[in-house]
Amino acid sequence: TTPRKTVKDYIRTIADFPKEGILFRDVTTLFADAKGFRMAIDEMVQPWAGEPIDKVIGLEARGFILGGAIAHQLSKGFVPIRKKGKLPGATISQSYKLEYGEAIMEIHDDAIRPGERVLIVDDLLATGGTCQAGAQLVRRLGGEIVGCSFVVDLPELGGRTLLETQGLDVNVLCA
Ligand code: 5GP
Repeated sequence: TTPRKTVKDYIRTIADFPKEGILFRDVTTLFADAKGFRMAIDEMVQPWAGEPIDKVIGLEARGFILGGAIAHQLSKGFVPIRKKGKLPGATISQSYKLEYGEAIMEIHDDAIRPGERVLIVDDLLATGGTCQAGAQLVRRLGGEIVGCSFVVDLPELGGRTLLETQGLDVNVLCA
């Protein structure tokens, strides 16, 4: 019998994107496959079963695709954290370091109420900077972070360790 496919089997790696020397993990092939996508969503939800969750937060942009499906599966609301200038209402902002320079993430200031318990979702964990900024935004609004779920971890970049030192529970499906 052929071994059962895992989530990792649906992800392809593309060399030299977005620039030379980078091996980009392309999750569009996972999202495009009905079995693969369902497997990923089920596995991202499973570790938090039994934990009360009020809202699912997705990090722009692939975190929206996963987060929307997870929120629907849990029958909870979805909240986007977006790059600066994209959200129409009143926001709070958090800057974070990139390899070169800085970026800013934003959340609507009324999207999370104090004490709400949230799950943060994105496709890939690299340095952890994006998720750390997202977690800071949630905490500034008084939200409690149940955990952070990713499809892929690049462990050599130390993101998981960074997030865990901030007291965050991290779950990843594959490295
Ligand atoms: P970090 O902030 O952890 O360094 O980077 C993670 C963010 O960059 C995530 O939002 C993720 O979507 C994006 N990212 C960085 N490298 C890759 C990659 O190889 N593949 C994909 N799909 N996303 C990546």
